[in-house]
Amino acid sequence: MDKIKMQTPLVEMDGDEMTRILWQMIKEELLLPYIDLNTQYFDLGLKNRNETDDKVTVESAEATKKYGVAVKCATITPNAARVEEYGLKEMWKSPNGTIRAILDGTVFRTPIIVKGIDPVVRNWKKPITIARHAYGDVYKAVEMKIPGPGKTELVYTPENGEEQRVTIHDFNGAGIIQGQHNIVSSIESFARSCFEYALDQKQELWFASKDTISKQYDHTFKDVFAEIFEAEYKDRFEKAGITYFYTLIDDAVARVMKSEGGFIWACKNYDGDVMSDMISSAFGSLAMMTSVLVSPQGYFEYEAAHGTVQRHYYKHLNGEETSTNSVATIFAWTGALRKRGELDNNPELVSFADRLEKACIKTIEDGKMTKDLALIATTGNKTVLNSFDFIKEIRNTLENN
Ligand code: NAP
Ligand code: MG
Repeated sequence: MDKIKMQTPLVEMDGDEMTRILWQMIKEELLLPYIDLNTQYFDLGLKNRNETDDKVTVESAEATKKYGVAVKCATITPNAARVEEYGLKEMWKSPNGTIRAILDGTVFRTPIIVKGIDPVVRNWKKPITIARHAYGDVYKAVEMKIPGPGKTELVYTPENGEEQRVTIHDFNGAGIIQGQHNIVSSIESFARSCFEYALDQKQELWFASKDTISKQYDHTFKDVFAEIFEAEYKDRFEKAGITYFYTLIDDAVARVMKSEGGFIWACKNYDGDVMSDMISSAFGSLAMMTSVLVSPQGYFEYEAAHGTVQRHYYKHLNGEETSTNSVATIFAWTGALRKRGELDNNPELVSFADRLEKACIKTIEDGKMTKDLALIATTGNKTVLNSFDFIKEIRNTLENN
């Protein structure tokens, strides 16, 4: 059988620890036998980031702008312990943060659904995708403890023009205050990434905030979304047969619980932080959660939502058997290959991505799975496989279906 050809390179960002081991095995067992893999390879493993003064991360993001699609392995975000462990020149920044800043993108997280691992919310039949605005609000707030009576104010001193002041509160006793901000251009990029991804997925887009209470701050989010939608996306949404829907955050939460899923839920920074943990726990497993960074220009970078699975890596280094779930990492590859195929008009690549995803799901539904899933699956006749046998079993399913 001829291998599938790729016209344009896919940007490949290798990573760290257990996921780096799985990365290699996924390529050898599930990709290279079937595809003439055309990638532009960047080693984002911590050792190479350190050796290149983290330039490799920037180069990989620039390449993503050039080619449009990337696939990324989980990477270590250094902390003090890692600086020592790897003898780092400095505590390099989070690669995901660096890439996100260059692409100005938004992260969308979606659970992979299989029979036998049922969401705790029983009416959820389809995945719910969460998009979190990753700039500002409480995450960049400044705060002050107010020790006793006195007046607190918000002050704006424009470069040109007259100062503006509003009273926050006239304190009679001790209290606390907080100053939050956001930037219109960041909200605009967030909105465009959400509209682009909704079109890409042909799914409804929901957005919610508390604009009835926050008449300037949250209302600006609502207005920016509405203006961009009217001006740039309304017709495209109509043609695609999808809708954009705004509501209050409390109404959104109630509707999400009663929905059957199958939509994208755009959240302000704090809401996204909190709700993404709720959604991923309710759907079952971090190891079954995919993630894609979408830029407002429509560049895509796919990865697993989980980290490098350090605990399993050290067991592996000790010669012990591991049972690490590779599904989210495989889906990062299939997501990227499908997108590459769509952009290049390469239906064989698209259909290969579909087949590989189906093979992963069928393998698990047939009862062959890693330990993390066996602990929560209601499937009868479960067989727990180690990290490598699980990938081989997926290959088996792929070959025989
Ligand atoms: P983690 O790698 O997500 O793993 C946390 C725990 O979740 C694991 O110990 C394991 O539980 C379970 N788990 C996660 N993925 C799994 C999988 N595929 N199969 C089976 N079990 C899985 O988080 P971490 O250990 O806190 O972080 C390790 C490193 O990853 C850190 O250096 C961090 O900076 C980095 N990180 C990177 C990214 C990214 O690149 N996107 C994201 C998050 C974290 P058990 O041990 O109970 O089996
Ligand atoms: Mg959180």
